[in-house]
Amino acid sequence: MAALPTPRRLCRSVVVTGSNRGLGLELVKSLATLQPAPDHVIATCRNPENAQELQMLSKTYSNIRILPLDVVSEESRQELVQQVEALVEESGLNCLINNAGINISATLEEVTAEAMLRVYETNTVAQLMVTKAFLPLMRRAAHRHNGMGWHRAAVINMSSISASMQLVREGEMFLQVYPYRIAKTALNMVTRCLAADLKPDGILCISLHPGWLKTDMGGTYADMNVEDPIPSIISLFQRIGEKDNGAFLNWKGETVPW
Ligand code: NDP
Repeated sequence: MAALPTPRRLCRSVVVTGSNRGLGLELVKSLATLQPAPDHVIATCRNPENAQELQMLSKTYSNIRILPLDVVSEESRQELVQQVEALVEESGLNCLINNAGINISATLEEVTAEAMLRVYETNTVAQLMVTKAFLPLMRRAAHRHNGMGWHRAAVINMSSISASMQLVREGEMFLQVYPYRIAKTALNMVTRCLAADLKPDGILCISLHPGWLKTDMGGTYADMNVEDPIPSIISLFQRIGEKDNGAFLNWKGETVPW
């Protein structure tokens, strides 16, 4: 007999970082219009007043709330957590999507300590600190549900296939992005540590490679338009469970080699 499909799970509240453009914006659009949709799609960005597309969306979809967050600022992180707590109250926060990121391209000849540290701060340290700030709210959500998944509590770290140590090859294009790929490899270790540490709390954590996308970061030669992988990514969020905790997956749900 064929296996029954995994039931799609509901998430009541989700925070997306870096959601004023690119992949973050596209995720917010899809999350807000899911059937059934989360009660709270908390779209964060550095400058909400300039996030015009996000503002238009929030006028159409009442479940979108735009809040300021600069992921590298402790003060900004703490203010955000307070505002999110006021929204979700005793239900806590079900899902945190650590999407914000920067890229500084640099070959071995070009790379500087300053570029390495700047990308590390934004693409690795900030993800850990944002997650840490939200832990009380995620634990609150986790206490109210069983199993593992985004219906309970899940952290999604937006990684990249360029972070894979096993896929490094002579002459390949990612050798031009030392700061970015090394910071994303370290982010994958953040995922592994959180997955192990937070499992007893029922909080799941994965790294996700969303595909090579035509965004400001991905550039115009990328494989896919930013909206192309979204249905698969959302479906993946609805399916992930205990077996995926600590995994490095692509947008199709396939395992990416470490
Ligand atoms: P974009 O460059 O299009 O968008 C990056 C987003 O991150 C922007 O909203 C930007 O905000 C935000 N951001 C940067 N720094 C900060 C900060 N300090 N605080 C808050 N927000 C910040 O990138 P993509 O949409 O393409 O990428 C999204 C994620 O997906 C990234 O983590 C990226 O590494 C990952 N990814 C992307 C791939 C691609 O092909 N595009 C491939 C693999 C992974 P602002 O407008 O204020 O600068």
